[in-house]
Amino acid sequence: MFFTKMLIPTLREAPSDADIISAKLMIRAGMIRKLASGFYEFLPLGLKVLRKVENIIREEMNAAGGQEISLPLIFPKDLWVETGRWNIYGKELFRLKDRKEAEFCLAPTAEEAVTDLVRKEIKSYKQLPLMLYQFGAKFRDEIRPRFGVMRAKEFLMKDAYSFHSDEADLERYYKIMFDAYTNVCRKCGFKFRAVEAASGAIGGSFSHEFMILADTGEEEIAWCDCGYGANSEKAECLPISQPKEESLSLEEVLTHNVGAVEDVAKFLEASPEKFIKTMIYKADGNPVVVLVRGDHEINEIKLQILLGADDIVLADEQTVVSITNSPLGFAGPVGLKGVKIIADLSVVKISNAVSGANKKDYHLKNVNYNRDYNADIVADIRKVMHGDICPKCKKENLRFSRGIEVGHVFKLGTKYSKSMNATYLDTNGKENLIVMGCYGIGVTRILAATIEQSHDDNGIIWTDNMAPFNVVVIPVNYADAKIKETTDKLYKELTSKGIDVLVDDRDERAGIKFKDADLIGIPYRITIGEKNLEKGHVELKARRDGKEGIKLLSPQEASSEIIRIFNK
Ligand code: ATP
Ligand code: MG
Repeated sequence: MFFTKMLIPTLREAPSDADIISAKLMIRAGMIRKLASGFYEFLPLGLKVLRKVENIIREEMNAAGGQEISLPLIFPKDLWVETGRWNIYGKELFRLKDRKEAEFCLAPTAEEAVTDLVRKEIKSYKQLPLMLYQFGAKFRDEIRPRFGVMRAKEFLMKDAYSFHSDEADLERYYKIMFDAYTNVCRKCGFKFRAVEAASGAIGGSFSHEFMILADTGEEEIAWCDCGYGANSEKAECLPISQPKEESLSLEEVLTHNVGAVEDVAKFLEASPEKFIKTMIYKADGNPVVVLVRGDHEINEIKLQILLGADDIVLADEQTVVSITNSPLGFAGPVGLKGVKIIADLSVVKISNAVSGANKKDYHLKNVNYNRDYNADIVADIRKVMHGDICPKCKKENLRFSRGIEVGHVFKLGTKYSKSMNATYLDTNGKENLIVMGCYGIGVTRILAATIEQSHDDNGIIWTDNMAPFNVVVIPVNYADAKIKETTDKLYKELTSKGIDVLVDDRDERAGIKFKDADLIGIPYRITIGEKNLEKGHVELKARRDGKEGIKLLSPQEASSEIIRIFNK
């Protein structure tokens, strides 16, 4: 391909609303343009990279026994009502109507559609296991679209769904998909970690996220050298013991005009670790009282999973007042009746704790679990924090890094087959629910994540298998007959061997061509200049190397070297 024939609108400066290095570089390199907030156009160069990433993923999906399909982008409401997600998905779901006022949504993911397909087509155990996957646009009305294609409202996802006769077979296949995802990350050249994405509360790890390590990542991961890794939202917290004190008698103290834990702590000369923080939530509309230590924070995701609730929100003032019989700010566990109490593993270990007294302007001192209050459930419901011990080896402190989630593998079990009645007949002719797994990768997000990990001051540095072209050939002056002849010959020879070549035939200064080549990040550059050519030489340089990496070779040697590198 010749530069002058291709739409590659490179820019010296990124637009001011590009908020992250990958977005800046993708726009500057002429890969993408923004149409509206969260919506991007892929230009020829960007699409070439996208297709390469798609192929890396497709190879792995096929190797894992998957079959590629293509589902519609618009789904009828009825299917989403069947699973209850029409309501649960909330504002992230784009909804629309046709001319007959029938309701639809734009695909944010496709469990409903694929389960519907399978329930109609699969009848017998003989047709299982089955894995279907697709590359398709996904639409999510994200509250905060940002970071270019990293968090967009429309993005390309590879979504895969597997169907099994039982849990054991799902378990077996989950490992195959886990390995396939690991291979994708390796082939993309990522520094990454596969981390647990589900809390231990549910029993075992049934979901893993593939995290690309980058300071700009929106997620935080907690990990340990022993091999443990989890999304920090979901990382398991061990109970923290406190020195056991002799139980003192319960005491009511006037705490007039002091509200927040820290203020009450100061006033009572007690440290926040001694506090029982009492929060009242509504889980699917039902009030629950949640207790954690004063220095800990409630993890609403763990709470939601523990309660199996679709929706968790902090209770309104009226509910708090009716449960505690006191104004806001004085809630505590002692004496509460008729409401479910959930306590964190660490809070019940505090001896002689401090809590609200459920009475205006009063707190209680010397509150002890079992003697003064009880909980319906004692479980891990807090957020992990610095200083927490690794829940796996139970020796080292957990460490924390930022990460970009590019992929997610999930054991769904019978969640969707149950609500949509997707069944098969087993060897005895008995009807059973199909057991499912689902596996997503953000293809467009992979592009951005790659650039976050692989760039320098001059631009993008693509891996050999992801780059839009294998090599860029830069004739310093394409109008010069001898240079043109060498360029054209090199181009012909390389392309005949299947090498993807970009020739920068623009009538521009060499400096500008070098800058753009670095910006676009093509892994190899062959420069053809007058002086070197007189001596029978061209320059070969890898994008990763500095000037000192330049090799002077004959055009023939340069071409053989490139062919060797790409194994053509
Ligand atoms: P996140 O926590 O980042 O919102 P998610 O948990 O909603 O992600 P999944 O539903 O598991 O994501 O989707 C599978 C993959 O799709 C993600 O791992 C990610 O790579 C990609 N993805 C999700 N949302 C977006 C988005 N708004 N823009 C681009 N890619 C996305
Ligand atoms: Mg999301």
